[in-house]
Amino acid sequence: MSNQPEQIARLPARLKVTEIFYSLQGEARNVGLPTVFVRLTGCPLRCTYCDTAYAFSGGEWMDVTTIIDEVKRYKTSHVTVTGGEPLAQKNCADLLKQLCDLDYDVSLETSGAILVDTVDTRVVKILDVKTPASEEDDKNRFENFEFLNAEDQVKFVICDENDYLWSKQIIARYQLDDKCEILFSPCHGQLDATTLADWVLRDQLNVRFQFQLHKHLWGDKPGV
Ligand code: SF4
Repeated sequence: MSNQPEQIARLPARLKVTEIFYSLQGEARNVGLPTVFVRLTGCPLRCTYCDTAYAFSGGEWMDVTTIIDEVKRYKTSHVTVTGGEPLAQKNCADLLKQLCDLDYDVSLETSGAILVDTVDTRVVKILDVKTPASEEDDKNRFENFEFLNAEDQVKFVICDENDYLWSKQIIARYQLDDKCEILFSPCHGQLDATTLADWVLRDQLNVRFQFQLHKHLWGDKPGV
């Protein structure tokens, strides 16, 4: 028997993936740009308006190299890693770093409920703040605001007037509009978009009003 310490092979980083698909970016600064989406499986939250509950479970284990090979099939430099809550899987940070190393323009959609301190600084973070109508507002990790840079975006999905007033208070309390761009999005099917647009203009808020483009083009279908 050898006295040499046994070599332990390092297993490739794996992630559970719900879907990888090519579509138009439906939200945020890159809206309308052809983008590859990597949707990771799992989320610890249960927002009332969630439209991706199909990503809570199931999925397929894939190593990071295989995910990247799939991303490379598409002729775009834009990649969005989403969920579920992608940061619920610790190897997500590896995937993000490797995509950045390959010079992709990488964005991450995250619930704001998990610390973003391990995310590569080259990644554009689109960080949700969960409003009261989501019924998950107690999960907000407001210390995440310390890790934002000017390229990042903070998103409020607004379901009613109470959500709107609450969001205004959060922006003022944390001086969010000095840190990065803020997105206000009407909750699909719950708040009339024109009403939210009128409130934003009435109060002269320094926010970007947005629709979810993909919902207007394709409705609630998954994988678009
Ligand atoms: S954080 Fe996103 S994926 Fe998770 S429950 Fe809320 S809306 Fe759904």
